[in-house]
Amino acid sequence: MGMGMEMGIGMGGECSAEAGPVCWICGAGGATLWRERALDRPLRAEDLRITDAGYGRTLRLWRCGECGFIFADGDDLARLEALYGELDDPEYDAGGEARARQMRWLIDLARRARPQARTLLDVGAASGLLVDAAAAAGLDAEGIEPSRSLAAGAQGRGLRVHHGVLPHPALAGRRFDLVALVDVIEHVADPVGLLREAAAHLAPGGALLVVTPDIGSRAARLMGGRWWHLRLAHVGYFNASTLDAALRAAGLRREAGRRARWFFPVGYLAERLERYLPIAGLNRLARRLPLVAGAYRRVIPLDLGDSFVWIAAPAGEGGDGDG
Ligand SMILES: [Zn+2]
Repeated sequence: MGMGMEMGIGMGGECSAEAGPVCWICGAGGATLWRERALDRPLRAEDLRITDAGYGRTLRLWRCGECGFIFADGDDLARLEALYGELDDPEYDAGGEARARQMRWLIDLARRARPQARTLLDVGAASGLLVDAAAAAGLDAEGIEPSRSLAAGAQGRGLRVHHGVLPHPALAGRRFDLVALVDVIEHVADPVGLLREAAAHLAPGGALLVVTPDIGSRAARLMGGRWWHLRLAHVGYFNASTLDAALRAAGLRREAGRRARWFFPVGYLAERLERYLPIAGLNRLARRLPLVAGAYRRVIPLDLGDSFVWIAAPAGEGGDGDG
């Protein structure tokens, strides 16, 4: 196997003459250019929508020669927090039932890891679906969300979702049995710092639930530059070893791990597949046939195998290292 093979995605492993930025995980300098920027203008809030279908469009990405972490650079990073503040996502609630099922699945998983858990904090709570699922499962749950509009939407439905980022005055000194970071660490320019902030809210014996895409997954390798997790909103890309390194840098250890199961309405899948297959005409036809239209509304579980679902705990606590 040649060295170029293992990269798989995008750039074909060419080195850049430009001195790369310092790695966010291991601190090594001299990362190599991995993927060119797909935007010829500054990043905007609407580029960050959860429902954005612009797969394969990213900021400029670099790959650390030391640990393999892939990460963005540029002026946009300093504006991320402000952009998330402005973000609204009118289509997001349309995916409600499928996303809600996924949230229930995640809550089940977290509760199996900590059966005695009574409280949960969801970091990056969006419109509050995980908080809602946790509350329905009997947990005393709250969340924190940088988007003013998503946080307000959650509050409007009676959910305790604070607007802002960690550290947050409403959460100062408070500890939770479970802290969730579901599809969050790939959105921030300091994932280790965020993991550390989140871990600071863990009660003794508590656990962190971390979900993030796996750029080392088979799906990522097969789909190359068109992988659905390559998107403008994702500024850091983890594989098993860099996620492990990020946890350790934040004073955490991996306790258990598996792959995410996603839930999708069939119609959503069919629509998204238009990006990859010539089925747009078929989809239009299908929506006009009552039987198929009904099938398109069904929600099905899908094990794509390309996101991590890890349970982590403070490195100093219990256990005996990685299992
Ligand atoms: Zn590194």
